[in-house]
Amino acid sequence: MPEAVQILLMEDDPEERALACRALAATGWRVMEATSAAAVLSAFRRGSNFVVLLGLRLPDTDGQELIGRIAADHPETPVVVTGVDDLAVAIDSMQRGAWDYVVKRADQRHLDHLPHVVARTLERRELVRERNRYREEMEALAIALRGTTDGVAILDPVGRISFVNRALAEAWGRRESTVVGRLIGEFVHVPADESALGDVLAAVVERGRWSGELRTRGAEPPLGIWDVALTPIRYPEFARGAVVTHAPTIVGIFRDVGDKHALEQLRADFLSMITHDIKVPLTVILGYTEMLTDPEPPPGQIPPDILTRIRESGETIHALVCNFLDLSRIEAGRMTLDRRPFDVREMLAHALEHYESTARRKGIALTLEGERLPPLVADETQLERVVANLLANAIKYTATGGRITIALGRENGHASIAFRDNGRGIPADELPHLFEKYRRVREAKRTEGTGLGLFIAKTIVEAHGGDIRVESAPGVGSTFTLLLPLA
Ligand code: ADP
Repeated sequence: MPEAVQILLMEDDPEERALACRALAATGWRVMEATSAAAVLSAFRRGSNFVVLLGLRLPDTDGQELIGRIAADHPETPVVVTGVDDLAVAIDSMQRGAWDYVVKRADQRHLDHLPHVVARTLERRELVRERNRYREEMEALAIALRGTTDGVAILDPVGRISFVNRALAEAWGRRESTVVGRLIGEFVHVPADESALGDVLAAVVERGRWSGELRTRGAEPPLGIWDVALTPIRYPEFARGAVVTHAPTIVGIFRDVGDKHALEQLRADFLSMITHDIKVPLTVILGYTEMLTDPEPPPGQIPPDILTRIRESGETIHALVCNFLDLSRIEAGRMTLDRRPFDVREMLAHALEHYESTARRKGIALTLEGERLPPLVADETQLERVVANLLANAIKYTATGGRITIALGRENGHASIAFRDNGRGIPADELPHLFEKYRRVREAKRTEGTGLGLFIAKTIVEAHGGDIRVESAPGVGSTFTLLLPLA
């Protein structure tokens, strides 16, 4: 239960105190009497819901000083001063923080007014409290709106902006103050129709909430794409006894969906890439098998390594499908590791053997060097996929006549496997993003690929508690190093 209001009556003259008590007796408020500043301050240690009636004459302190102290420490406590009929004293009291000043009269008639003065002061206190609560609420709201990472804007029905939060203004490359007062159409538009924003605002006013996509003017998609909800808010107001509803204020919440669009675009590109990358080797397989099954093959047209080429094309398709399946497994959180001990050098030798013919045909020398290591306890099949991706990349991105070395060693309790090539290398600004899903280095003429190999490699290696890193320089070559914990 809230503490009941009490009147803290500070009056050192016993006769005047008794008279004041009597004047207040009928009001029902409890009166607490004090005869010194010390007594007043000690009352504040026990409660706070007071109206202080303060006679300025105090035995221990200057009365004006006490007003200042109460105003500073308890700003919501009204202090009503009873004092002499002196304008300067009254003004001084009010300036120090008194809420009211009652002039003492010799005939004591001022006491008749006291209950009314206290009631009025309490009413004022209620208003002050309400204002403070409202102010706190507004501040909290403003902080929340300003700080939220979604964009927020408040508009009038023609789209003039009266508030914008920092996230939205910054996304438009502006400061809040330079956006306020401008029309929303200067910053965003409806994607398909430059002039449709006016219709959207009219629809919000007439029919209510609208949601859809808006684009920042001048931004290159997928940047500046917003999922926007515009909601009309109406405040009913009373004017000359009737309710008048003003044209609404529109609140807009802007959610940045650029990343989502970029990912969707990447997925679409990925699908068209994977289709193309499967089609090329499939055409090779179909063409060569047709030659082989032709009862009268065209003379001199069957290449001597036709079966190797068919096998390699099959392997290219197999690798693509494996990467695609790995990706779905990773995205569904279904990647599990089947850890068993195996000899990593043997696994690498096996992989090398497998890629030997592809490398040879490109005139690339493949070598394996380094020490034998204790068995690795890991998922061999998954690590084979990592090695296959790194080796295939090294061959793919190294020109004819190049050299690829796989070096096995130890580093801080880890097995390190370095894939070093002297191929085309990777620009420094691409390196930090290389292991992201679908990420590929831009190139003039497209090399087949989906941008999944390194992402999958990193996911598998990290699932083993290991790491993958890259050092590269354009025109010099690249080294991808796997680090896997030794048991
Ligand atoms: P993909 O090769 O299918 O495009 P990856 O995820 O395996 O996808 O590789 C991502 C990108 O990293 C490649 O597109 C290529 O630009 C670059 N890259 C990978 N390995 C090498 C390498 N050994 N030399 C040069 N660039 C490489």
